[in-house]
Amino acid sequence: MAHPRLVVVGAGLAGVTAVETLRSEGFDGSVTMVGAEPHAPYERPPLSKGFLMGTESRESVFSHPDDWYREHAVELHTGVRVTAIDRNAQVVETAGSERIGYDGLLLATGSRPRGLDVPGTELVGVHQLRTLDASEGLKTALEDAERLVVAGGGWIGLEVAAAARIAGLDVVLVERGDVPLGGALGPRVAQVFADLHRDHGVGVLTHREVRRFLGHHGILEAVELDDGTRLDADLALVAVGAVPRTELAEAAGLAVDDGVLVDAHLRAADPRIFAAGDVANADHPVLGRRVRVEHWANARSQGPVAARAMLGQDVVHEDLPFFFTDQYELGMEYVGYAPPGAYERVVLRGDVAGLTFVAFWTSGDRVVAAMHVNTWDATEPLTELVRSGRNVGADRLADAAVPLAQL
Ligand SMILES: Cc1cc2nc3c(=O)[nH]c(=O)nc-3n(C[C@H](O)[C@H](O)[C@H](O)COP(=O)(O)OP(=O)(O)OC[C@H]3O[C@@H](n4cnc5c(N)ncnc54)[C@H](O)[C@@H]3O)c2cc1C
Repeated sequence: MAHPRLVVVGAGLAGVTAVETLRSEGFDGSVTMVGAEPHAPYERPPLSKGFLMGTESRESVFSHPDDWYREHAVELHTGVRVTAIDRNAQVVETAGSERIGYDGLLLATGSRPRGLDVPGTELVGVHQLRTLDASEGLKTALEDAERLVVAGGGWIGLEVAAAARIAGLDVVLVERGDVPLGGALGPRVAQVFADLHRDHGVGVLTHREVRRFLGHHGILEAVELDDGTRLDADLALVAVGAVPRTELAEAAGLAVDDGVLVDAHLRAADPRIFAAGDVANADHPVLGRRVRVEHWANARSQGPVAARAMLGQDVVHEDLPFFFTDQYELGMEYVGYAPPGAYERVVLRGDVAGLTFVAFWTSGDRVVAAMHVNTWDATEPLTELVRSGRNVGADRLADAAVPLAQL
């Protein structure tokens, strides 16, 4: 490529880590990043934690100061939506009818919150949470509200429930499964989170769904559940998962199946197009299957791999899925991949009631995922253990006298 032009669609974490890497690898062609939000790239985890609770400042969530993009010759277009990819002409089109040519294109369009198809979601007081603007709106609402209903017991729902309890609101969480986080963690470990929230005064309702949001003069007053229960509420959060933003890729004729399908180099079937972050459904060399991961660490590690692959380097993304959360006094980190059906047992070691423990998800004698709660020196040995694929019996896993590093 004589004059390579690299274009990144989506100014989120995967996008920004990609452009950082393009420059740190010495790429001196043109780099353009186009983001639909009115902001430069920022971190989303604080939006349901420190930023929402007022312990982290607005400035601290941004990936870089504004100057950084100019200093690194990154042409950043904020508030600009890409509406189409013309693969033949190697051009992306924006909502303002601008056409930007590319030699290499990275799709880092992330995901959007899934909607709830029930009446009343348009009422003032019904929120969703994905963006900085949405978090600011929710933060302001938390200051005045008294009663929050959270629809959906996933990570974001639980984190916001914790933030709202800390802010002194009455909180009810509505989960349609047996237990919040049941799908992510399995019933035993998920119960730890349900108990934690109940201990902090959250009403956790399971096997229930929201039937409709009820309002007066366009303002939320209550939430009605499928069994007819009416919960008074002046604030509600719909947090029922996220959907990858694949529409651009799909319209451009790229293969899409729960995310943009890419190989382990994060390259799509069109060799000029790559995908990273929440939107990428990538071949994973260690797991031996495709995975799409909606977590911070994945966006952070895939951005750089995609960037290096765009520069022609022979790199693959093989980091294991990694996730963290903070809720009240509980901090945890999880590494590995253990969806329902991919493990047989969960082995626990440590003080579960005291919230200082480690959990292992095992298939045969192999640990396919591991998580620690408030055991901060465990991250490295647990990652190594999962990655090694080594066989370790349940007795040793459960025995706190055996150091994690020796497993
Ligand atoms: C509230 C919240 C809390 C979270 N907390 C945690 C946590 O504790 N731990 C954890 O591991 N993960 C957490 N996550 C998940 C993590 O933040 C995401 O996995 C990560 O942000 C994904 O980065 P991304 O770059 O793939 O996508 P995103 O961050 O979604 O960025 C994609 C960007 O692309 C833009 N875009 C989309 N389409 C277009 C288009 N056509 N044209 C231009 N721009 C476009 C979007 O507007 C968006 O700004 C959290 C997420 C949220 C929302």
